[in-house]
Amino acid sequence: TEEFLRYNESLSMIGELSAGIAHEIRNPLTSIRGFVQLLYSRSKMNRELHEIILSEVDRINSIIGELLLLGKEMPSELADCNLAGLLGQVVVLLNAQAHMTDNEIVMHSDLDSLLIRCAVNKLKQVFINVLKNAIEASPHGAEITLELKLEENAAIIRIIDTGPGIPAELLHQIGAPFFTTKSGGNGLGVMISKKIIHNHKGTLQFKSNQPVGTIVEITLPLLHELQHT
Ligand code: ADP
Ligand code: MG
Repeated sequence: TEEFLRYNESLSMIGELSAGIAHEIRNPLTSIRGFVQLLYSRSKMNRELHEIILSEVDRINSIIGELLLLGKEMPSELADCNLAGLLGQVVVLLNAQAHMTDNEIVMHSDLDSLLIRCAVNKLKQVFINVLKNAIEASPHGAEITLELKLEENAAIIRIIDTGPGIPAELLHQIGAPFFTTKSGGNGLGVMISKKIIHNHKGTLQFKSNQPVGTIVEITLPLLHELQHT
């Protein structure tokens, strides 16, 4: 528990700090974006260069967006939510992306309804982050499985893919701020997801899906007081 508390404390410090910095960076970045577009329309600036600059600026902006989220306080929108329904929604949402690479997310659950008191949009963010990672890791044409089960007094959610998996020596780094193995990645999704799940007194773990693939296992207690960061 002491370790957990220290972990949580450092997370919320990172949250506050990064939200502050992110806010300061966003304004000049907006100016830069505007002026680059002005330059392009007024001069004969190379079109390809212009697009590279804009896409890089947009990438910084998306990182900043996530940093700002990180600093947001938790208990904003607590509600009783049907976890099965929420997961179903996210699956529909992300199947649009999955279908582009011929992948399919399939949900397996015997439960039509599983009520949980939670910050609905935060949990939604977690499932989106984790499913996105699963899609990004999957080979073309592969299926991604989403399981929902009830065990004791906790909901167990497993996201199972058939991608390359995570090498044992990298496992402990997953979820560290900015740790990414993707060329366009920002390495914040897992960190943010873990923070949100911990605030719900749950756990998020990566497991190997031998011989190939990854299982992300999320447990969420059904009865709990939410942790205020
Ligand atoms: P990003 O997706 O921007 O890289 P994340 O925090 O979401 O950042 O993920 C961090 C890293 O964790 C990824 O770059 C990848 O190396 C690893 N990872 C996460 N999910 C999976 C998965 N399902 N299969 C393989 N690697 C994964
Ligand atoms: Mg990600």
